[in-house]
Amino acid sequence: MQKLVIASNNPGKLREFQFLLQPLGIEVLTQAQLGIAEAAEPHYTFIENALAKARHVSCLSGLPALADDSGICVEALGGAPGVLSARYAGDDPKSDRRNNEKLLQEMQGVADRRAHYYCVLVLLHHAGDPQPLIAEGEWHGEIAHEERGDGGFGYDPLFWLPELGKMSAELEHVQKHAISHRGKALRALLEKLKIS
Ligand code: IMP
Repeated sequence: MQKLVIASNNPGKLREFQFLLQPLGIEVLTQAQLGIAEAAEPHYTFIENALAKARHVSCLSGLPALADDSGICVEALGGAPGVLSARYAGDDPKSDRRNNEKLLQEMQGVADRRAHYYCVLVLLHHAGDPQPLIAEGEWHGEIAHEERGDGGFGYDPLFWLPELGKMSAELEHVQKHAISHRGKALRALLEKLKIS
């Protein structure tokens, strides 16, 4: 595969995918570059949303498409924000800052701070591909009591990694990708690509 379209307009994710895929000699295009609007994400599970996004972009571009659906799941909140992570505090417009404020509010007085990021990747070779490549990754940590760090995006300033003594927003790119949900999912997907 020489070219693929990333089915996302999230600048944080696009930076991460370009960083991870460029060394493989795959030309990474974005759906915005091709003038393709974002697909709806109406489903209750990450995998359904990822399939919908990849199919939408592959159908309109005529190219292989890679979609990611990801989010943060907080154990004490029954897995919320989950598939609603990007628009937890509303989607007009989506705001990382307001999402983080809302999460801190919901976690007030909650002792169990365990949470994990989840990422599922779907690669469709073409829009009608009956056998998409699918890979997942998880990254476990805790929700901190206040924000810290200015790297990463989304919930990274609140995602505390006890074994490193750092927030994920305090990690360098390379360090984050080595252990993150998206890094794990992408490495698993690349393994599948090699043998497909
Ligand atoms: P999606 O675009 O519907 O998959 O939404 C993903 C959302 O999950 C992002 O907008 C963030 O709020 C959150 N998220 C996913 N991965 C990360 C990450 O690596 N760091 C911080 N937030 C993330």
